[in-house]
Amino acid sequence: MARLLAEAGAEPTPVRLAVARVLAGGDRAMPAADILARVREAMPVNKVTLYRILDLFVRQGLANRHSSGDRAFRYCLGPRLSGRAHGHAYCLRCGRMECLPAGSDLLDVVAVGRSLDMDVLGVEVRIDGVCASCRQAAGEGRSGPAGSQGPAVDGGRGKN
Ligand SMILES: [Zn+2]
Ligand SMILES: [Zn+2]
Repeated sequence: MARLLAEAGAEPTPVRLAVARVLAGGDRAMPAADILARVREAMPVNKVTLYRILDLFVRQGLANRHSSGDRAFRYCLGPRLSGRAHGHAYCLRCGRMECLPAGSDLLDVVAVGRSLDMDVLGVEVRIDGVCASCRQAAGEGRSGPAGSQGPAVDGGRGKN
């Protein structure tokens, strides 16, 4: 992990390593607030530092930043760390953004991108829907808007 960071031009400080480990340990793309909470289980870190690290990781290709239906970006492993591009399944109710296994059929769009006469720097594939646990919580067969809640939002953005 330290070597990966160094190769990407990011000095592998303990905090950066902790952030990279959190990103590596998940099977989903997480909002910064969740990443912050997990890194804090290992060591103290303030929010501004975390955002700087995430920005750095995105710039260096270590992490992917994904927009979603709400205001909070989600982060997961970038091509350097995960090796391959992958898509995401996003739940509009709870905001969970699952990382899909690389090599899913839908990722043929990556190949399509490569066939274009352009330098492809990124491909984003996101499937929006309602996840199984949210569907269950809402009760089978009931598909009205009643009781639908907005996704969890990272309330910390913009507050330095
Ligand atoms: Zn859900
Ligand atoms: Zn992902």
